[in-house]
Amino acid sequence: MIPQETIERVAAANDIVEVIGAHVSLKRMGARFRALCPFHKEKTPSFYVDPQRQTYKCFGCGVGGTVFKFVMAYENLDFPSAVRRLAERVNLPLAEAEFRGGDSDPAFQLKRRLLSLHAEAADWFQRHLMKSPEAQPARDYLKGRGIDREVAASWKLGYAPNAWDGLRDWAIGNGYTMDELVAGGLVVVKDDAKRGTYDRFRDRLMIPIGNEQGETIAFSGRVLAAEAQAAKYVNSPETPLFTKGAVLFGLHRARRAIIEAGCAIVCEGQLDLIAAFEAGIENVTAPQGTAFTSRQATLLRRCAEEVILCFDADAAGQQAAERSFAALLEANLTVRVASMPPGEDPDSLIRSRGADAFRERIAQARDFFDFQIERLGGTFDLGTARGQAAFARRMAESVRLVGDPLLREAVVGKISARLGLPAERFRELLVAKTRLYATEPADDRPTELSVVERPAVAVSQLITLALQHEESRRWMLAQPDWRERLRRVRGGELLARVLGARLTASDSASTNAFLSSLPPGEEQVLADLGFNEVPAHPAHVLEDCWLGLEEEELVARREAFQARMRAPNVALEETWNLNQQVLDLQNRLTDIARLRSSRRGLD
Ligand code: ZN
Repeated sequence: MIPQETIERVAAANDIVEVIGAHVSLKRMGARFRALCPFHKEKTPSFYVDPQRQTYKCFGCGVGGTVFKFVMAYENLDFPSAVRRLAERVNLPLAEAEFRGGDSDPAFQLKRRLLSLHAEAADWFQRHLMKSPEAQPARDYLKGRGIDREVAASWKLGYAPNAWDGLRDWAIGNGYTMDELVAGGLVVVKDDAKRGTYDRFRDRLMIPIGNEQGETIAFSGRVLAAEAQAAKYVNSPETPLFTKGAVLFGLHRARRAIIEAGCAIVCEGQLDLIAAFEAGIENVTAPQGTAFTSRQATLLRRCAEEVILCFDADAAGQQAAERSFAALLEANLTVRVASMPPGEDPDSLIRSRGADAFRERIAQARDFFDFQIERLGGTFDLGTARGQAAFARRMAESVRLVGDPLLREAVVGKISARLGLPAERFRELLVAKTRLYATEPADDRPTELSVVERPAVAVSQLITLALQHEESRRWMLAQPDWRERLRRVRGGELLARVLGARLTASDSASTNAFLSSLPPGEEQVLADLGFNEVPAHPAHVLEDCWLGLEEEELVARREAFQARMRAPNVALEETWNLNQQVLDLQNRLTDIARLRSSRRGLD
């Protein structure tokens, strides 16, 4: 458990507007900030950040909460990691003891060691690239691609010397262990009886792969000799730091430009990306490996609505593009395809014809389905029924992934036009083998919110006050029967928890630390209520709602009595008794209603 104090310190030091603003483009709207929700697809912004309360809330998909909740959801972290990430963000040192189960966790320790190993190894490779005589071919190669010293340094490019244990000896000499080198994938254990080792990367141009914070977590090593028998790229294996398919190359540098453009240009190779970025086209990224995974697509969806695939014109490039579609469409991204002139990639195009030639290609990018229809249309014989059906089925695989019904209809129209058949016939072609609309990708997924019952109206208002208005909070705590009273109303236990917590309602860091300590469903409900405005006359609302609690309870009791009266086999005497109680309750309810309405008259 992280102490509440620590959480409060971290919350106080991290302004939610700055934290969210680093990922989402926020526009000021009065006292709040507004943006397109990073958690669901929308055209008009319904995602709000409240600087005063230090909370966020999406009125579209219902997500919301504290700065911790945001970091957890956005970066897919658990709570302690989110606290740590935010502490690091503001250089707030956290004592070792504050993270029992954090720093003392061996897996976590290993990650820290591997991060520092990768940072130092990147420096070591870079020193070799800049200085070592044997790195001359690497320097020549970069020069040939128009990458000068400065650019190479800014992307931390390096050179792995042509030796079997150069990196190993350096790292051991610098205090790293063999276990760490193997765990980080930098050294490979030989598959023989002696279990010797060798450096994974030898005589290669080294391209560090960064996480979203820009820390090096893996490497790509590119072969330099054109005629070499070796693989063009050698990549780090999966390690505790690096999960293939979960990282997008260059995203930590390109994210801001991608957010601003609302669009990401996806290049096939890392050097293509560097060339485009350095030519001023900065909203670029590259999948790690050839095709997009759904995790990468989700990452991208947080900062862009649209993706332009910019893969090589060769067959391999086209196939990689096609393999990426599914993940991208499923993430609700609009996909377009930019074609490069034959034999060119973005890097060579920019070098031979300039950045504008590349921009032009991007501007002319075609809708994915047009691209797909043309590509597949050429491979089936559409003059025959069999060819038409095969084509229709292939297209249906993609169409099914489109969530937006209007867009889907437009695509169906395009495909039937290509087939020269009415849309109805296209659908018929599909029925036999493929159910076109079998799965409807849901735009708004249910949140964990549904598991916690919404509190009664009066309780909701009281929670808002208890979270935000210190005076009201004290007043409620001063009511002698508050615990008992709350036990009997819907949502009362939530309010009781707010009142029972040690927090100061006027201090957002303190309330946010409290919210973070709750299970997700409750946190969501409470964060929502904490987001509501404090009414203009809190004292009146407070007393009114407090009476409302009693009302709520009396209504519940009356209903229970009435249900009992309707039950079969109830003795006449009991019925009479129940009836009397219902009447008493009714009287008390009338009194309360009169009291409440007269008080409202005071406003
Ligand atoms: Zn949303």
